[in-house]
Amino acid sequence: MIYLDHNATTPLLDEAKAAMVAALEGAWGNPSSAHKAGRQARAVLDEARRTLAELAGARPEQVVFTSGATEALNQAIHSAGPGRVLVSAVEHPAVWAALEARPDRRVEVLPVGADGAVDVAHVVAEVERGEAPALVIVMAANNETGLLQPVAELTRAMREREVPLLVDAVQWAGRLPIDFAPDYLVVTAHKLGGPKGVGALVTPTDAPVLPLIFGGGQERGLRGGTEPLPAIAGFGAAVAQVRVDRAHEAHRVQALRDRLEETLLAELPGARVIGRGAPRLPNTISLLLPEGVEAEAVVGRLDRAGIAVSTGSACHSGTLKPSRVLTAMGLGPDECFRVVRVSLGHTTDVVEIDRLAAVLPDAIARAR
Ligand code: PLP
Repeated sequence: MIYLDHNATTPLLDEAKAAMVAALEGAWGNPSSAHKAGRQARAVLDEARRTLAELAGARPEQVVFTSGATEALNQAIHSAGPGRVLVSAVEHPAVWAALEARPDRRVEVLPVGADGAVDVAHVVAEVERGEAPALVIVMAANNETGLLQPVAELTRAMREREVPLLVDAVQWAGRLPIDFAPDYLVVTAHKLGGPKGVGALVTPTDAPVLPLIFGGGQERGLRGGTEPLPAIAGFGAAVAQVRVDRAHEAHRVQALRDRLEETLLAELPGARVIGRGAPRLPNTISLLLPEGVEAEAVVGRLDRAGIAVSTGSACHSGTLKPSRVLTAMGLGPDECFRVVRVSLGHTTDVVEIDRLAAVLPDAIARAR
């Protein structure tokens, strides 16, 4: 299979798999136990925490391991408390659902431009108008489009005004350097070559964190439950590998992405890449197909040809609603259903890219 859906999830890196097997075999103890087996497990946990802290520019004690980004986003929203919450229009469904579940959060949506980004001056004006917000939420890189938001600038602007900022860095981490330190930073292992079911909430400014899950005092009482050591070990190893490879990989993947994009645009009159001129991830193509072609039909044909890509966001594919993200960027309902997302990653090579470029025009012709 040619897997070009790395924004949905990434295949496990060899290093992560090896660390997971090693943890299953050699660190099966309970990190809370006072004996040798416990200490061995604790050492693995501490090491992963240090690696993650380094990635995020934080200290190890500012990292809370969670079951993934969904939980970490919920926990950050829970921790920031009730009141006014300003939310960029392109956030992940986990953010909207977590806010909907709490009627004491008064949500105000921050619009984005055709480039998928909020305007920092507008955010500042909104923050300064009326009651001080309990939280501002802006995702770093969008899972559907790959478009980046000005999170470094926003972090500085919110810090100056002492307004807590939550940044979902799930798609950014592992692909771009984390050169910003918001109050709440969320990452997940399975988008950077680690396993599913583990993520982290990082608080580089020591913002308050409240537990969502109460238990035996793990994670300094902030996340109860015996730690999933093999998953955390895999997370740590994936992060360590990404820290070594990232710059080179970003360069390699972007060259492949650009090659694919140029071929597709040359071969598909009427197609366009969403946000092409705007800052975006090196691995993502959000391709608007020519009129009269449904993305879903094309994705199905590609699947039968052994190529995995997706329509809109994998997190809610299967629904027939136009994407909230694309709609916020000004696309009409008809256009939303014409968008195919191709996302490259560590397993991608030039043969795969050229195969997609060769197969797609035919898949489109048949889908018409
Ligand atoms: N945020 C973004 C931007 C995502 O792409 C995803 C993944 O689907 C999530 C959050 C949720 O992550 P997890 O699967 O770890 O809960």
